[in-house]
Parts: sequence; structure tokens; C-alpha cells
Amino acid sequence: MCSDHIIRGVAANGQIRCFAAYTKETVETARGFFDTSPVVTAALGRLLTAGAMMGSMMKGENDRLTLSIKGDGPVGGLTVTAGADSFVKGYANEPQVVIHARSDGKLDVAGAIGKGYLTVIRDMGLKEPYNGSVELVSGEIAQDITYYFASSEQVPSSVGLGVLMNRDNTVKVAGGFIIQLMPFAEDAVITQLEANLQGIDSVTSMLSSGMSTEDMLKKILEPMELEVLDTIPTGYRCDCSRERVLSAIASLGRADLESLTGPGDDIEVQCHFCNKKYSFTAKELERFSKK
Ligand SMILES: [Zn+2]
Repeated sequence: MCSDHIIRGVAANGQIRCFAAYTKETVETARGFFDTSPVVTAALGRLLTAGAMMGSMMKGENDRLTLSIKGDGPVGGLTVTAGADSFVKGYANEPQVVIHARSDGKLDVAGAIGKGYLTVIRDMGLKEPYNGSVELVSGEIAQDITYYFASSEQVPSSVGLGVLMNRDNTVKVAGGFIIQLMPFAEDAVITQLEANLQGIDSVTSMLSSGMSTEDMLKKILEPMELEVLDTIPTGYRCDCSRERVLSAIASLGRADLESLTGPGDDIEVQCHFCNKKYSFTAKELERFSKK
């Protein structure tokens, strides 16, 4: 099989821009780190896939995108961070949530997330990162990101995301697409696209039937001509280090620090994104906890 990647393209003479992602290994890596239950694998996998595609939309090499979902369902929240290189990392607040499947037999991602908010933070190295927040309209994630694009960025979009598990709960396929209309898109193009989107199968059906990311975009856009501009690798990557963890600890106040450790003890901190453990001596922390 092919390795994880994103393709970017345009269609209808540039009136549409489009992205498609294949993210099986990315999602399987997250599942392996956190031993997520199937519904959380699906939820986190969808958000990681969206993050990878949205990361590729950023211009600056050091730009960072964070997608954060907070909900009142049992998962509590999901956080995904993407670089402009389209590599992602993420975690779920409660990775092992188990809830009943929906009546159609599908994993109930919306039920696991509940009602809440999606926040998108774009850090472009400026003083104030761009920050947009919308209420969750479905909790299924793809629709929520579609709504975010329309209401916060005024870009009419269609987003599809999917994660399918094997019987042993490992990831069978994962991927997605984002289709966006440029402001000058003609009515005929919009009508064609809307009709196509009504008729397509789910992302997981398309991918597991053997369609490539390019086939998927062609299917969504036919008979409009798709021009693939580039193919970029994606994957799960945690860039944590002792220094980064230490500076995160340093941002805590003295009282919080003492609640972590108890005066005089070493503390162990686990990276949220990859479970790697770092331990610090009281002496090291002492240097940082002084104001
Ligand atoms: Zn890490």
C-alpha cells in the first residue's frame, strides 16, 4: 500500500481548490501510543486527518495550526497540532471511552464528543495568534470543520473525513478531503459540485474499495478537470524534548509545581502527544520555579 500523503490540486480552472489525504499510518500511530478505543481512534483520526490537510494550507515554514475540540461527551476533548509540513500530533482527553454504536452500526463519534466548541489557532509567529472558535454543529468533526471554514474564514467548503477499523481495532483505512470554492466560482461549478457531493460514497468506502486520493478527488469533481499540483508526505510526529517539557513546566506557577511534586521530590512528566516520560530533579525545577 501507499504511504501517508496529501495531494493538493485545483479544478475548474482554479475555481475550486482541493486536498485529499491518506492517513492510515498516522492514525494507527496515534492509536498505538494511546491504545484508543475504536470511537476515539475514529474521532482523533478524523481530526488528525483534517489537521494534516489544513497544515498544508499554511504558508510560513514555522507556522503552526492547532485544532481543539472541547465537548461535554465522555471524550472531553481532542487536540491536534499540525506544522506547515503537514506532519501532525494529537491526543484525546479520555482515550479509552467506550459507548454504544449508533443505530446504523457506525461508531458514535458525535455521542463521544457531545456538545461543545471547535477552536482553530493559527500561530504564524506574530504576537497574537489567529484564533477562531465555532460551536460544534454535529460533533462528527467533518461537518464541524466545514462550518468553521464557512463562518470563521468565509470559505465555502466541503470536508469529508473517515477512519475504518479492522476487527482487531487497528486502523484499516483513514483519509479525507477538503474541497473549497474560490470567491469567483461560477454557479454552474457550484451546482455540479453540490450534485456530486450528494452522490458520493463515504471516504472509507472509497478508500477501502481501492481508490487512491487522486481517484477520490476525480470522483468528487467529475466531469470537471482535476489538476494535481503536488503530493506531500504526512505522518504522526512528536517533536517533544527535555527542554520543551521543562519550559512548559516552567510556565506553571510555584503552587502548581508544588502540587505536581511535593517539595523536594523529583517529578516525572509524560508528553501528552507520545507518552514519552521525562523526569526532573527538584534542583532542576528549583531553577525554573523562581520568578
Ligand atoms: Zn512527545
